[in-house]
Order: sequence, then structure tokens, then C-alpha cells
Amino acid sequence: MTDLSAPTNVATKYPQPPFKKQQQSGVGTVSEMDPQPDHGEQSYRGSGKLTGRRALITGGDSGIGRAVAIAFAREGASIALNYLPEEQPDADEVASLLRGEGATVELLPGDLTDEAFNAKLVEQTVAALGGIDLLVMVAGGMPTVSGIEDFDTATFDRLLRTNIHSLFWLTKAAKPHFGPGASIIATGSIQSFNPSPDLVEYAVTKAGIANWVRAMAQQLAQEGIRVNGVAPGPFWTPLQPSSVPNDKIESFGGEAAYGRPGQPVELCSTYVYLASQESSYTSGETIVVSGGTPVH
Ligand code: NAD
Ligand code: MG
Repeated sequence: MTDLSAPTNVATKYPQPPFKKQQQSGVGTVSEMDPQPDHGEQSYRGSGKLTGRRALITGGDSGIGRAVAIAFAREGASIALNYLPEEQPDADEVASLLRGEGATVELLPGDLTDEAFNAKLVEQTVAALGGIDLLVMVAGGMPTVSGIEDFDTATFDRLLRTNIHSLFWLTKAAKPHFGPGASIIATGSIQSFNPSPDLVEYAVTKAGIANWVRAMAQQLAQEGIRVNGVAPGPFWTPLQPSSVPNDKIESFGGEAAYGRPGQPVELCSTYVYLASQESSYTSGETIVVSGGTPVH
């Protein structure tokens, strides 16, 4: 395994732009990405930080969610992964890697825009893992637009249900099952704070997530349930070639102070930290991981 703790120049540690042109249709898949993202398959080493914890991870098939799944499993958690049914090959890859290492991995495909499915997903997780302690919401969509002329109500409705409604539906369903040490983690973006004009619908949902984290943390504090967020900068995942135009892929991540996008493995420790008891006095916070670019 690569030694993650070895001193390295962080600016040149991973691939930099220009990238090859590449465009994906639908929700996107890891297998079509060039170069392949690093989700920590070869490098992430656990140290028992989540031993015995039971986690539901949405968007767990690819990208950031896949890196979180690998890290949580290697930290000793049993995991349930949600993703869209068409992403089964990506999910199978994660499951076979982690099951091969002895982890418990339950695969629970389904569409989070369907309210009833969200409740079912939590029940399926509880049945498979014997409970739920960690609710990690990574799934999200990101439509891009060239102007207000592009605004489409059906697209926005679906985006809201994916990025915002599911946070409420999953939390409502999971709360009765939470025991001591429960932790909820939502995935925002630097767009939560610094919106881009071509991502206005997405940015509105991500701003909503940062706000949701602050409010829900207070609502659940006395019950011992922590709620935090992670706000990634540019990360090399299928979301990008499936959502943004090719010219932006070529230069992707170049705007970060590091001059390159992050790799999913560079983000998963933030989720581990927020899930573990090491962050017991942290709630209502959103941690920005943006390759040196200030956002506040
Ligand atoms: P990704 O494409 O690998 O992951 C997104 C996942 O969302 C998909 O794998 C899919 O399983 C899931 N998803 C989308 N719609 C769904 C639905 N209706 N039902 C169920 N699952 C659904 O890309 P990623 O970059 O790892 O994205 C993960 C999260 O990170 C997203 O919330 C995204 O907004 C956020 N994010 C990504 C970046 C970046 O640059 N990649 C930057 C900031 C925030
Ligand atoms: Mg995916």
C-alpha cells in the first residue's frame, strides 16, 4: 500500500489539468474516467476509528461516496450503500473489494427522489446491519445551465428532491433507530458559499444543505445526535464529465490554489473524523476541503 503519511508536495501529488476531453451521459460511471480516480483502494489504512458502527452511505458506488465507503469499512464499520439501479456495476466493484477484506457491505439500490423509498432504505439498512449509527448523505445531482432561459421546472424539482428532500426523509426515518454516538453527515459544496452562475440551481441546493446542517444540529443536539457537513471543492469524480461541458473538464481543478482537482481519497478522512467520537463536540459545522482556495 502507498504510505499516505509520507511527506509529499500536495500540489503535485495527483493528476493536474489539462485532462483529456471526456463526456458521459446519465449519472456517470467510474470506469469511463481517464485518469481513473483514486478512492483509496490501494492506500487508505484504517485504525479502528469506527469499529462496530453501522453506516448508511448514499452515493456510495462512485466518487466521494465510494472513498467514504472504503474508509468506513477499513475503520471497522459495517456499511449499506445506496445508489441508482443503473450504477450496479460501480456498486458491485466496491462491494467485491470490501467483502474481500472481510467487511459487511449491503447494496441497496433505489431512487432518492421517491419519498417512500427513503423510509424503506433506512428500514433495509437497519434489518441488514442490525441498526444504524451513521447516516452519510453523499448522493447529489448537478445540472449546469447557460442562462435563465434554461431553467426547467421538472429538472429543478428532481434536483430539490435529490439534494434537499432526501436529507429530511432519511433523517426522519433514521432518528427513531439512532443510539448513542449517532452522527449525520451531509455533503455540501464550495458552491454553498461561492455560487457559480452556470450552477445556480445546484448552488441554491448546496447553500440549503449548509443551512440545514446548522439548524438540524440544534434540533437534535439534546438527543445526542450530531449533524455536520462537508463542502468539497473540485473533485475528480463521474459527476463532472456527466454534468459539465468538455472545455471545463480539460481545465478541471485548475482554479484551485493547488492547480489541480482533489481525488476522492483526499476527502474521506474528513467524513471519518465527523463520524467518529473524536469530533464529539463538533456539530452544526461544515468543513471545507478545497485545495487551498479560501471560500469564507
Ligand atoms: P458521483 O457521481 O460519483 O456521486 C454522485 C452520486 O449521487 C451518484 O453516484 C449516485 O449514486 C447518486 N445519486 C444521484 N442522484 C440520485 C438519486 N436520485 N437517487 C439516488 N442516488 C442518486 O460524484 P461525486 O462528485 O462523488 O458526488 C458526491 C457528492 O459530492 C454530491 O453531493 C456532489 O454534489 C458533491 N460535490 C462534488 C464535487 C465534485 O467536484 N466532484 C464538489 C462539491 C460537491
Ligand atoms: Mg455513481
